[in-house]
Amino acid sequence: METLAIQGEIEILTVESGDAYAAALRRNSDLSVLPAKYVVYPAVYEDISSIIAFALTQSPPLEIAVKGGGAHSSTWASSNGGIVIDLGKLKKVTLFEDGQYITVQGGALWGDVYEVTAREHVDVVGSPLWFVGVGGFTLGGGYGPLSGQYGLAIDNMISATVVLADGRIVKTNREEEPDLFWAIRGGGGQFGIVVDITFKVHSAVGPIGCGIISYPGSELDQLLKIIGVCDWNRIMTPQERFTMSFSRPAPHFKPSIVILPTILHDQDGSKSREVLRPFREGSANPSFYNIGQVPNMLAVSHSADVALSTAPRSLVIRGTLFSDFFPELLLTVWEKWVEFTEGNEDVRASTVLWDLTHPRSITGVSSADTALPVRSPHYWMAVQGRSTTAISIKTAQEFATSVVSFVRSKNTELSGKDLGWFLNLTQGDESAEDVFGTNLPRLSKLKAKYDPKKVWSKGLVIDPAELT
Ligand SMILES: Cc1cc2nc3c(=O)[nH]c(=O)nc-3n(C[C@H](O)[C@H](O)[C@H](O)COP(=O)(O)OP(=O)(O)OC[C@H]3O[C@@H](n4cnc5c(N)ncnc54)[C@H](O)[C@@H]3O)c2cc1C
Repeated sequence: METLAIQGEIEILTVESGDAYAAALRRNSDLSVLPAKYVVYPAVYEDISSIIAFALTQSPPLEIAVKGGGAHSSTWASSNGGIVIDLGKLKKVTLFEDGQYITVQGGALWGDVYEVTAREHVDVVGSPLWFVGVGGFTLGGGYGPLSGQYGLAIDNMISATVVLADGRIVKTNREEEPDLFWAIRGGGGQFGIVVDITFKVHSAVGPIGCGIISYPGSELDQLLKIIGVCDWNRIMTPQERFTMSFSRPAPHFKPSIVILPTILHDQDGSKSREVLRPFREGSANPSFYNIGQVPNMLAVSHSADVALSTAPRSLVIRGTLFSDFFPELLLTVWEKWVEFTEGNEDVRASTVLWDLTHPRSITGVSSADTALPVRSPHYWMAVQGRSTTAISIKTAQEFATSVVSFVRSKNTELSGKDLGWFLNLTQGDESAEDVFGTNLPRLSKLKAKYDPKKVWSKGLVIDPAELT
């Protein structure tokens, strides 16, 4: 460990730091790893201002990347030869005494938050998985298991503290720096380093019904009828959510449809039994049905641990939004996915995931209220391209790109609405217009105000407007 010749005592790793440096570069996806010149761990907010000044006064200036949880499958939180500001020492989670709000530091994972909310019997809108960072997830919008009831993570933000490109540390909320508060709610990491966020707290949603319902691929037609036209839409409320994935589970690796429900306030299992009846006793026959109760979101967030522990670490994720579970759309994606994963063991672990969250709360906010533009009824889907060999990485990347492009254009054709891309599941090569839509002009003006020199040059980069 050496000390940067700048103000503050900041832990810094370089290639000379050996194993610690290699560990510091590690990300959720091996495809996200880049060899940074420095990885630094600020422990107090003021140190971040010093690090920015140091990076910008080098000749040439160093590229700055910011790492929250390191879950994004791009290289946005990594740098080739620049400096990574790793927020891993800023993970404090503080529940207010009145139990109404919680302040979370920018480097915390959702698992850190759920440890506290589980202990205190409260809940917040966060990620379904514990290892996703609060920073990246929230700044990109944040769709979670509680979104049906309480909206997106950004809809639950009360205030934040941000270190700006010029080193100033500002508090932002609806009254203080309101423009900045608007921009960070959906604009990503383009406006500064968000060192803490205060969220609304909700009463505990546990016990939660969750588990697995699995079907052979031959049941997809029937399943889409259940989801789309009859039972599920009729009985579903904002307290029920599920993801449906196309995957090939071991040991048979046959194309399967796996449904992972999250049923909030499921006291004794009777609610799960009732609302999931169409999936158990309807026209589609599950090959496996195992639903139980867990106490809280901490447990839900660990429910995929076993499956993910053996998943190939070369992962690319792309996703998009869609308006409805159109059978024509889903059946075509199924065919594409079966064909792609058939007979190619290298990419067999690739999956397609569809999220079914009740859209009511998400649509209760207008497009102009936050930087995230899509507030008409919608759902989201993601392709997780996983590869076991270097040679198949490109194939998996191309598959992810082609499927999400198909979903976007087919959904536009069937619904008459182009919903663009969803920031949290982009890779950075999309156009800013397609991600921010009608909010882009305001975001460009605010980029000119808060980061005219594009110090934040990683991610879905917004060009500053030319101010006259
Ligand atoms: C397995 C998996 C499941 C997912 N499921 C969902 C889901 O259900 N819903 C959903 O909405 N998204 C989901 N995502 C997407 C996820 O929200 C994004 O990848 C998000 O960016 C991850 O945040 P992070 O802090 O871990 O990312 P990082 O990789 O650390 O960072 C991603 C980007 O955010 C920036 N950033 C991170 N923290 C800060 C900060 N404090 N201040 C400023 N900029 C910051 C980084 O600079 C970078 O540009 C999922 C991702 C994975 C891998």
